[in-house]
Amino acid sequence: MTREKLAGVLPRAALDTGVALAQIQPVCEDVRDRGAAAVREYTARFDGVDLPISRVPAQALADALAGLGPGLRAALEEMARRVRPVHEAQRPAGHVTRIGDGAQVTERYVPVDRAGVYVPGGLVPLPSSVIMNVIPAQVAGVRQIAVASPPRPDSGGMPAPAILAACALLGIDEVHAVGGAQAVAMFAYGTADCAAVDVVTGPGNAYVTAAKRLLAGTVGVDAEAGPTEIAIIADHTASPRFLAADLVAQAEHGPLAACLLITTDPALAERTEAELAAQVASARHRDTVRAALAGQSACVLVDDTEAALAISDAWAPEHLEIQAEDASGLAARVRNAGAVFVGPYAPVSLGDYLAGSNHVLPTGGTARHTAGLSVLSFLRGIHVVECSAAALAVAAPHIDALGAAEDLAAHVAAVRVRVPPGREARPEGGGPGPARPGARQPAAAPPIRPDLAGRAPYGAPQLDVPVRLNTNENPNPPPPALVREITEAVAAAAGSLNRYPDRDAMALRADLAAYLGHGLTARQVWAANGSNEIIQQLLQAFGGPGRSALGFEPSYAMHPLIARATATGWIRGARDADFGLDTAQAVRAVREHQPGLLFLTSPNNPTGAALPLAVIEAVCETAPGMVVVDEAYAEFAREGTGTALALLPRYPRLVVTRTMSKAFALAGARVGYLAADPAVVDALLLVRLPYHLSAQTQEIARAALAHAPELLATVASLRAERDSLVGWLRGRGLAAAASDANFVLFGGFGDSRAVWQGLLDHGVLVRETGPPGWLRVSIGTPAEMVAFRAALTEVLGDATASDGSTR
Ligand code: PMP
Repeated sequence: MTREKLAGVLPRAALDTGVALAQIQPVCEDVRDRGAAAVREYTARFDGVDLPISRVPAQALADALAGLGPGLRAALEEMARRVRPVHEAQRPAGHVTRIGDGAQVTERYVPVDRAGVYVPGGLVPLPSSVIMNVIPAQVAGVRQIAVASPPRPDSGGMPAPAILAACALLGIDEVHAVGGAQAVAMFAYGTADCAAVDVVTGPGNAYVTAAKRLLAGTVGVDAEAGPTEIAIIADHTASPRFLAADLVAQAEHGPLAACLLITTDPALAERTEAELAAQVASARHRDTVRAALAGQSACVLVDDTEAALAISDAWAPEHLEIQAEDASGLAARVRNAGAVFVGPYAPVSLGDYLAGSNHVLPTGGTARHTAGLSVLSFLRGIHVVECSAAALAVAAPHIDALGAAEDLAAHVAAVRVRVPPGREARPEGGGPGPARPGARQPAAAPPIRPDLAGRAPYGAPQLDVPVRLNTNENPNPPPPALVREITEAVAAAAGSLNRYPDRDAMALRADLAAYLGHGLTARQVWAANGSNEIIQQLLQAFGGPGRSALGFEPSYAMHPLIARATATGWIRGARDADFGLDTAQAVRAVREHQPGLLFLTSPNNPTGAALPLAVIEAVCETAPGMVVVDEAYAEFAREGTGTALALLPRYPRLVVTRTMSKAFALAGARVGYLAADPAVVDALLLVRLPYHLSAQTQEIARAALAHAPELLATVASLRAERDSLVGWLRGRGLAAAASDANFVLFGGFGDSRAVWQGLLDHGVLVRETGPPGWLRVSIGTPAEMVAFRAALTEVLGDATASDGSTR
């Protein structure tokens, strides 16, 4: 039998939304035209409650939560705890697809701004509906979520307390005491009490469903929820008691509920019938159950499980249970169902509450084309198209042909105005053509990757001026004893330079692990030529084409530059106006962008301050990929600042990068390192160049580590110098950002370029970086800081200022 024929003979309640549609249309139009006043009148008429405003007061939500019984509260919390990770796993990662050189399409998933969740009042309120609708919206990153539920005269004119309590439990503070079609219209059009939403979800009666259908063009809606259904595929291994219990459980939802038992075993059918008779008789809602089982329900006998699957797929049930041999094998072959419950111990009742799966599922056969409610119900994929001039030239001839075929000459012209005919690159990719043997190639630009062409390299100016405070170096040269030891160690290594060095730098890694403490071992530490190379290796291993990395700007400029060099997409997250990053902001960005890698610079360069560990923890909890905390300046942090090293045992995808360039005064030696799970280190072995750390580098770093206490002692004086500089700058009426590093971002200048140049003219080089109007100065020696203050005082023309010696 064909699917159409099969579906035609299987029972299902006929739903006539048309009648309800005619009834609710004037209600919706009235709410559109008269807003809150119309909502108030319909609420009085249909729910018997007169409410001057629809929004439920915060106190009512708090009271409902306080009044929630401990048993129900624990159950709702457990339900949320299970539902959340399942939905978090649903969040799609964005993709970057390279179409050719210089042309790519990025798919970004962006949550809707505002969602409305409808929760029916019904005879028995369903707080589980709140959890099932609100959590996917929260996980998607929807900023505003409003709930509507009908007021009840027996609940003091408010929605059911259990529903209010569930909202409060999830942190929802916008709840409207409005039900029926008027609630959907309120969400779609907005009223004085409730702003319009972008998407409405949630189950409801025939009027709510009709309103969602009517307003589907005005607002996004989830699938229409009709009467609930179950199909059970069962063979001789199934328990008639279990089957009967599940059929009765489904039937108690309402007289229109549909139950289909599909079995290969006539004896099982008979025994289930007998069980049903007994269980229905003692069911609490036995009249409802009888009506449902006598109505659109049936037992279908089939020859084998193949036929059972075909029947179920044709019916496309909301819920499908499989209680048969090889239940998982059969489940894997199901094509049409809202959700599948495998084996004897996964009843639909588990799915209604505590499986972690969503219970808002497609009914009425719509499972053929529609999925249940999910994070995707609240997200939109946006294609971001990028194309270089050269890549457009490659596409141009094809656009000529397509535009001509569709008679859209202006389409062709819009491309041709950018790519004049004859200027096309070779369609094959635009590389230089084969040269005639012996012919000299024209002096053209080398065929660089289009995404790098025209870019400027990294380049903090290296100018020969007396006071260099622009690259955050430690101003103190290595002490003479260390210089001696380095010289000896390098001399000793020189004798075996014919051999490659230890390519895994085991001795150095062990010394670094001992320096870091936190119980770290050499297996959890990795070293490279500066932390810049560490960052490059991380991006090579965990980023790359088709993947993206996120950073919160302003921050260390090399993160995006190295991302670009490794063809990793860069996503610019933002810090707030004070350069801070709060947990909600960080988590929102992570949820929205789902980056493969995430950079948190703490202390941050160029702004200075470290992040609270709570932000890093929240990001680690949310991020789908690697979280890199760049702690290049960790040793300079103010008292009480935590290090992300402490979080490593809890988060295997967390990486903490450090450097010897700053506190260890070893910028010239180029040694950076990281601490992470050993699996991360193993991944980096795949991308590092063989013998990347020279024998001398390893020796120099080890010698410096042996002098750690002495070197770190200079850090304390640099910190003091920094704090006094912040005070001095602020005392001069300048803005100076709080700093946990060996530099200070200062500003408030209308023309920071002029100040930078003025300082340079006085022999002081600082860095032009950070937001417009700000400059960054590294902490130098006391004498250099005196020179800096004197120069700045002169540049700013402050006649009353001191000679710069003020501390
Ligand atoms: N991270 C941050 C935040 C930095 O500011 C710097 C250097 N200024 C580095 C990493 C790189 O340092 P290096 O490569 O010298 O270890």
